Amino acid sequence: MNAVYIGIGILVFLWVFFHLHRRQRNRNKVICVIESNCVGCNHCVKRCRCHVLEMVEDETGKHAAVKYLDKCTACGDCIGKCKFNALKLIKRL
Ligand code: SF4
Ligand code: SF4
Repeated sequence: MNAVYIGIGILVFLWVFFHLHRRQRNRNKVICVIESNCVGCNHCVKRCRCHVLEMVEDETGKHAAVKYLDKCTACGDCIGKCKFNALKLIKRL
């Protein structure tokens, strides 16, 4: 039974360590939408847990846009969902 608790403890520790490391690494970056590549599929908006992105419609059509730049943790989850190479991390100004 102790081995189970130790195993769970190690997993929790690794998860916290990985999470903090990723946040630290990306602290100076932020997401950017390449509008010309975006097809407006909405997958990135649904994936973002921080509600940074939203869909907008203008003269160029429907596409994702960065609404709350300050909330972006640069986790990259939305990039993993985009099949059209329409998202990238750039240096935060
Ligand atoms: S990088 Fe992460 S926090 Fe930033 S928009 Fe993408 S999913 Fe959201
Ligand atoms: S996943 Fe890519 S193509 Fe789809 S809305 Fe987001 S940025 Fe656009």
